Amino acid sequence: MKRRDFIKYGAVGLGAVSLCAPNVFAAGHNRRRVVVVGGGYGGATAARYIKLIDSSVEVILIEKNDQFISCPISNWVLVGMKRMSDISFGYQGLAARGIQVIKDEIIGIDAKAGYVQGRKGKVEYDRLIVSPGIDFRYDLIEGFDDAARKMFPHAYKAGPQTVQLQQELQALQPGGTVLMTVPDNAYRCPPGPYERASLIADYLQKNKKGSKLVILDPHQKIASKGKLFKAAWDAYYTDIIDYRTEEIIASVDAKKKTISTYEEEFKADVINFIPDQKAGKLAFDLGLIPEKKLWAPVKPLTLESTLVPGVHVIGDATDSLSSGPMPKSGFVANSMGKVAAAAVVAELSGKKAPLPSFANTCYSMVSGTEAIFITGVYKYDLAAGKNIKIKEASITSPGRSAYYGKCADDWATSIWSDMLS
Ligand SMILES: Cc1cc2nc3c(=O)[nH]c(=O)nc-3n(C[C@H](O)[C@H](O)[C@H](O)COP(=O)(O)OP(=O)(O)OC[C@H]3O[C@@H](n4cnc5c(N)ncnc54)[C@H](O)[C@@H]3O)c2cc1C
Repeated sequence: MKRRDFIKYGAVGLGAVSLCAPNVFAAGHNRRRVVVVGGGYGGATAARYIKLIDSSVEVILIEKNDQFISCPISNWVLVGMKRMSDISFGYQGLAARGIQVIKDEIIGIDAKAGYVQGRKGKVEYDRLIVSPGIDFRYDLIEGFDDAARKMFPHAYKAGPQTVQLQQELQALQPGGTVLMTVPDNAYRCPPGPYERASLIADYLQKNKKGSKLVILDPHQKIASKGKLFKAAWDAYYTDIIDYRTEEIIASVDAKKKTISTYEEEFKADVINFIPDQKAGKLAFDLGLIPEKKLWAPVKPLTLESTLVPGVHVIGDATDSLSSGPMPKSGFVANSMGKVAAAAVVAELSGKKAPLPSFANTCYSMVSGTEAIFITGVYKYDLAAGKNIKIKEASITSPGRSAYYGKCADDWATSIWSDMLS
């Protein structure tokens, strides 16, 4: 199929701006096409920054969903502080920059021939960037069948499950019990479950008198910003939060609506089960994960896969043993998108990739108004040959405040603009 035929078939899906997938979408003669798969924090940023660095590079973004729904701020939606529409965005901004946005699910690759295979067709590339996010390790839990998936929402990929959990919280009777689990390392957004716990506790206190929140955590203590979360919980929620450590979930039973560790069975009115995690399925399908491993190893300078040449992996799916000691966060995925964009444009122009640096700031609400934060800055260390943390530039907030709460909101608005405008 020629490109002009493709355009003819194109204009449906993803709103008026985007295109459906062709049967074959062949690269042009100048051999400067980058295909980005996954339009989340990493992928959308990479696509946008390639165009910003060199507008002559052809950029195609392939995303399986109609729109981007942000995980950051989705905890706010659970308790009615924001609506789904506040965290959902189209890809019009990227399309207006000349990026071609295709709705398809990629299921395979021919790296020698240089194309990815989608459900609707194949798309050729000169360089490929993938940012597939995470998937869940349901196989670790006995009884986690389809019924259990419906019964125990994770709400850890923002979307329909966010709405489900929000509705379940709304329907809870005063005096009821909510139970949530924390995943074991490595997982996306280390403070995310604790922010959720804080906001749910705040919500129960204000709206569901006498209700309790049980938290089952496999860690020995709160895994991120521990002192700050604990100080807020001690100040506000001692009569609501029942926080239990070193609790490993062994099985669930959807019929009985129970969840069990090796020692104890728990029942609750609302159960938010956040499973352990691994790289998104796409990373496995494209051969980017070594056997018996869960995350994609990359070269620290360019984030190019160590397994499949010409393919760069960014975001949560990367293996931090090779990418560097950054947490799995939207901010880091955004940084990685910029690093991969710069590396790919340099490589296509026969130049050396610039030395990378990465940043992270993660705000977490501890009540309906107050937040805490953690920052991290990372750079490539030439002598060590790897990305390292710059200790002096990495801090946690001195306490909690409503001002930081306002900063959290502003942070989200500005990173969405940095990815999608
Ligand atoms: C509750 C919660 C709160 C959070 N809060 C924060 C925060 O405050 N700050 C922060 O920095 N981070 C936060 N995070 C973490 C952040 O959401 C992730 O780190 C970030 O989304 C990672 O970006 P990514 O590009 O790797 O994956 P994603 O953003 O998940 O993007 C992956 C994209 O790839 C697409 N995709 C997957 N497979 C395919 C395929 N086969 N074909 C086509 N498309 C595909 C998906 O549809 C998705 O759009 C939070 C996460 C959660 C769950």
